[in-house]
This record gives sequence, C-alpha cells and structure tokens, in this order.
Amino acid sequence: MLDAASKAFFQTLSYSATLKKLASRYGMSGPRAFARRFIAGETVDDAIAAVRAIQAQGLLCTLDYLGESVTSLAAAETATREYVTLVEALDRAGVERNLSLKLTQLGLDVDRAICVDNLRRILQAAARCGFFVRIDMESSAHTDATLDIFETVWKLGDRGVGVVLQSCLYRTEKDVQRVNALGARVRLVKGAYREPKSVAYQHKSDVDAAYVRLAKLLLTEGVYPAIATHDEDILNEVKRFAADRALARDAFEFQMLYGIRRDLQNALRDEGYRMRVYVPFGREWFPYFMRRLGERPANVAFVLRSLVAER
Ligand SMILES: Cc1cc2nc3c(=O)[nH]c(=O)nc-3n(C[C@H](O)[C@H](O)[C@H](O)COP(=O)(O)OP(=O)(O)OC[C@H]3O[C@@H](n4cnc5c(N)ncnc54)[C@H](O)[C@@H]3O)c2cc1C
Repeated sequence: MLDAASKAFFQTLSYSATLKKLASRYGMSGPRAFARRFIAGETVDDAIAAVRAIQAQGLLCTLDYLGESVTSLAAAETATREYVTLVEALDRAGVERNLSLKLTQLGLDVDRAICVDNLRRILQAAARCGFFVRIDMESSAHTDATLDIFETVWKLGDRGVGVVLQSCLYRTEKDVQRVNALGARVRLVKGAYREPKSVAYQHKSDVDAAYVRLAKLLLTEGVYPAIATHDEDILNEVKRFAADRALARDAFEFQMLYGIRRDLQNALRDEGYRMRVYVPFGREWFPYFMRRLGERPANVAFVLRSLVAER
C-alpha cells in the first residue's frame, strides 16, 4: 500500500510547474547535481559520453530522449525530428544502436494518426542505420492505443521494434500472448504509474508474483524477452528458471535503469548475462525523475543531502 501511496504522491507532485522550475534550476546545475544520479545529461553529447562509458564496462545500452505527454502537434514534430537527428548522431558516433521512446512524446494524446506517422518516420530512420527501437509503456489510459499502434507498425513491416508490458495490470497475460503471437519482443516491467484497482494490482506482492509468472511465460514462449527489474529475488528466480530449462544466456537479456543497482548490473555481466542499461537524457527529465523518487522514497533523502552538500 505504501508503494501505491508513494507513487500517487510523487505522480501528483510531478504535475507541479513550480517544483519543475525549481528542480530544473538545481537538478542538473553542476557535475554532482542530484538529477545526474538518474539522468545522463541534457544534450546528445552527454548521452553519447554516457553510452561510451557504459559500453566500456561491457554493458549494453538503450537511449531514451526524455519527453512525454506533449499537448501540441508542433511539440510532437519537434520530438520526432530530434529523434531522427539522434539516430544520425549515434550512427556517426558509432555507439550502440538501441533507442526507447514514448508515444505521448510523438503526439498520441493530440492526434493518433500523426503519432503513427511520426513513429514510422523514426522507425524508418532507425531501420536505415540498423537500430532497434523499444516503445515504452505509459499509464493504463494509453495501453490499448500503444499496443494497437505497435501492432499496426509491425504489420506494416517495421520489424526493428518492440514494446513494453507491465506486470501490475490484470490484462497483461493476454497482452503477452498477443505480442508473442506476432513474434515480437517484449520488455517486461512492473509498471511505474499509479493505477486504479479496477485495472491493476494494488499490493506489491501481487505485482511481483505476476512479474515472475509473466517472465516465465516470456522465457518459454516469447522472442528474446527483456527482463527489466532491479528486484534481486526475481532476478534469482529468473536465472534458476532459465538454467533449469537450459536456455542460452543470449536467449534473453536483463535491463536496469541508469544509476540504479550498478552492483547488480555488474554482477550479472560478470556471470555472463546480457545486461542493458536504460539511459535517459534530455531537458525534459522532471517527470522521469519524479517516478524514480516515487519508487523509492529513500531517494528523497539522497536529493536533500545533495542539495545541502552543494551549499
Ligand atoms: C530498463 C527499464 C525500462 C523501464 N521501462 C518502463 C516502461 O516503459 N513503463 C513503465 O511503466 N515502467 C518502466 N520501467 C520502470 C518499472 O516499471 C519499475 O517502476 C522500476 O523498474 C522499479 O521496479 P523494480 O522492478 O526494480 O522493482 P522494485 O520492487 O520497485 O525494486 C526492487 C529494488 O530495486 C531497487 N530500486 C528500484 N527502484 C529504485 C529507484 N527508483 N531508486 C533506487 N533503487 C531502486 C531497490 O533496491 C529495490 O528494493 C522500466 C524499468 C527498467 C529497469
């Protein structure tokens, strides 16, 4: 319950324009500023430097150019162009070719058809340069639209694309079967958004149990699933399950967020697993940052300590 209350509290705060302004002023203002713990920086150069450093440690990456819930077609167009430019910049830099994006950043809440066009423009640029693109999953209000759009582009022939499903939602087993039937890739997460009990489990133990069930389903019937969690018990369970079935270590991958459980990231790499780090960057980092605080309220103490230390 505390988990749900904390998510709700930080989600509400994430809508505060005043807090956003204050955080934006201090959060990235120096090399040790508090938001840098979770966000790789604000520019493409920052992102490329972060990817290089992570790759040098033998870890894989996916880059997320932050932004979501745009309210105008102009903002969606800007985000689309910036993603295409990012593809070209990463191609030139010769770093890993893997992106994550959100459909509300491409105009999902404004005009669905234009959002699909924007997505396809990015996918086409990505395909030219051999990128894989993951469509992140947002709140349950967007689940149907996200999956429908994903299925549309898949059926139109875009293949370098995968989607995210959340174990907190009751519906997810059916969604896993739907994406498996397409032969597409799923990243499984617990779910970062506050959801009502009409659609989602409210107790962490239920979300965790569903995660294990769905991860096993993906490992047996899915296509190269991404097991995205920092939960050590679940990671151990997944490792045992994969070993019992003699699954090859490159038949799936683990994923974690930038700046979270680096010890576990390195340990999995050392054990010979594929370990991908989700690297967010960009000026619109505030909602992402607030979700990370909501997942672990102890992070607030970390932010406060950083602020005091900077004075
Ligand atoms: C690669 C990746 C991509 C994701 N994409 C999406 C997406 O598209 N849509 C979506 O809804 N969610 C996404 N998420 C977030 C996810 O839904 C969870 O909110 C988040 O991963 C925390 O859950 P957990 O599985 O780590 O388990 P938890 O039970 O929440 O945490 C397990 C342990 O991990 C550590 N931990 C977890 N979160 C934090 C934190 N913020 N700060 C410090 N330590 C922490 C703690 O040690 C904690 O005890 C993504 C997560 C990952 C790793």
